Amino acid sequence: MFGKWFQDSESYYLYLMELEWGKGFSFSQCVHDKYYKGKTYYYRKCRKCGNSGSITANSVFHGMKMQILKAFHMIFRLTAKKKDMSTTGLKSEVDVQQKTAWLFKQKVPVAMKQSIKIS
Ligand SMILES: [Zn+2]
Repeated sequence: MFGKWFQDSESYYLYLMELEWGKGFSFSQCVHDKYYKGKTYYYRKCRKCGNSGSITANSVFHGMKMQILKAFHMIFRLTAKKKDMSTTGLKSEVDVQQKTAWLFKQKVPVAMKQSIKIS
């Protein structure tokens, strides 16, 4: 499911939306499918319970400060390579800090087991 390579962040947001909301929008708290649009196209608010959030909430991307583009490229590298991808390799290839690369390397295998969710 992470085998896609896009060149811009917007494509990844759309990709995530398709994965998460493609079969119908709902937040985990309720199953209502009517929503208000939020401040961005990947942010929605439930008309019934009022819960709101972006497509990245409760996912491996939650609270992330780096571009989603870089995050996806790291995931792609971590999951596509058969042999272990080193954090230094990630760092230089995706152009992130080593700590970020290391954190992602810890998170991704866990997240992969539960789709993109880690909550
Ligand atoms: Zn709701």
